[in-house]
Amino acid sequence: MRIYVDYDDCLCETAKAFTWIADRLFGKKVPYEKVRFFSLKESFELNDEEYAQLMEYGHRPEVLMAYEETPGAAETLNAWLDQGHEVYIITGRPYSSYEASRRWLDEHGLKRIKMYCLDKYGRNRCTDQSDYNMTMEEYYQLKFDVAVEDSPLAFRFFDHLPEMKVLVFDRPWNRADQLPGANYIRCTDWNTINEMVDAMS
Ligand SMILES: [Mg+2]
Repeated sequence: MRIYVDYDDCLCETAKAFTWIADRLFGKKVPYEKVRFFSLKESFELNDEEYAQLMEYGHRPEVLMAYEETPGAAETLNAWLDQGHEVYIITGRPYSSYEASRRWLDEHGLKRIKMYCLDKYGRNRCTDQSDYNMTMEEYYQLKFDVAVEDSPLAFRFFDHLPEMKVLVFDRPWNRADQLPGANYIRCTDWNTINEMVDAMS
């Protein structure tokens, strides 16, 4: 099978890191469970300037490198590769954070995994032709069997694949809305995700 895997808050605990950063930069104390919106600007009630500062800080290489792995992520992805599945990490992170993001994967035992930056959230208008810069045209040519994603704002990228199973990584910001279809399944951890993929293979 071909499997799409999102990076932030699927492979690593990005929002947890941002709760710490928002406190450090602005004294905003928002517990992780209260991060109700995918938009951190809304969740932390930041103005434009504060939000820009938050994002800049959170994407510094040394900060990215410190993000904690979500338990079981690397083990599951490696098992999928061993079973012959094709795994694509497709992140909405800016292209400028590619190197640190790649290094994080390498240092967490994920050297064999392909990673691409796709402009999911309109943050990057990059015309760079690097191998890791995936254009929308390239993305829409790929057919996936399974996706692992936490962000409701990214679900629209699955509309063209109604047969695909979307395993929604359960997070506080995706609990309010109903999932878009019967092919969407909420999963609380990597064990559950692995079982779902096993059952499909
Ligand atoms: Mg994510």
